Amino acid sequence: MVSFLPGKRKQTASGWISFNAPCCVHRGDTQDRRQRGGIKPSPDSSWSYHCFNCGYTASFVLGRNLTFKARKLLEWLNVPAEEIERINLESLKHKSIEGLLGERQEVIQKLQAIEFEDRDLPVTTQPLNELAEEYLHSRSIPLDYPFLYKTMPRPGIVIPFTHNNQVVGHTTRFLDDRTPRYIQDIQHGYVFGTDLQGVDWQWAIVVEGVFDALSINGLAVLHAEINDAQVRLIRSLGREIVVVPDQDEAGMKLVDRAVELGWAVSMPEWPMGIKDVNDAVIRLGRLATLITIMQARETSKIKIELRKKQLVKRLRT
Ligand SMILES: [Zn+2]
Repeated sequence: MVSFLPGKRKQTASGWISFNAPCCVHRGDTQDRRQRGGIKPSPDSSWSYHCFNCGYTASFVLGRNLTFKARKLLEWLNVPAEEIERINLESLKHKSIEGLLGERQEVIQKLQAIEFEDRDLPVTTQPLNELAEEYLHSRSIPLDYPFLYKTMPRPGIVIPFTHNNQVVGHTTRFLDDRTPRYIQDIQHGYVFGTDLQGVDWQWAIVVEGVFDALSINGLAVLHAEINDAQVRLIRSLGREIVVVPDQDEAGMKLVDRAVELGWAVSMPEWPMGIKDVNDAVIRLGRLATLITIMQARETSKIKIELRKKQLVKRLRT
């Protein structure tokens, strides 16, 4: 991929190569002259692209077909049509080879059966500034997730929603004190965090919010319910599931749903004032939080109901 990029480019310490973005002019924007196009190649020749000018994103994963958006990007980089076809064929040859590598590919294929459209991120995003980094730090969120920052119309952190490492939506967490605190572009059935799951993990921890998921590499259903499409996606991972609801009234709905699905539920007895996984990670640290979750894990319907009653009582006093 790098060989197709314009000669004038620079590389950052974190592996991004930046160059004048070719996308903007094709999307009704002005020509980028400030090297706001960025590509991050991985060693296996997969790559992802993001434009900090017009918000265009595209990515390529070895072993899979070039997506419509990746093809467009290659066209705009003046890669000849035959060459684009060759890249695609070459990629598909790797499908069978990758298959021999086992589970990773299995996970990808299971997820591939569930597809979402590629979506753009908001326009005029920029890399995180100091204020935004401080905010994430204060919430114990690792900075290795590809967060972006925007200032208009309100300052906020943009969290791309990925599925199979492609951008399929996003949420913005605003940093001023106004409401709403979040806006979301979310597709039906989407679950955040599948790309955070380790290859050989036995468990998947299902939480409500995106920050809860980011702080323990969990899966977020993004509201206090789990719809049927989300259930299919979560089941397709083939992991043992434990649901950790927010310890508030809304969270108790998630408990009922988990019981209905036959999934384990964990409602740890955290110190006062801790209401969700992210609060717990801030106060106790990631490892201690995970330990409390696994220790409080419950599969018996009766025990789950008892614990729920206890919690509701505490909430109402
Ligand atoms: Zn662009």
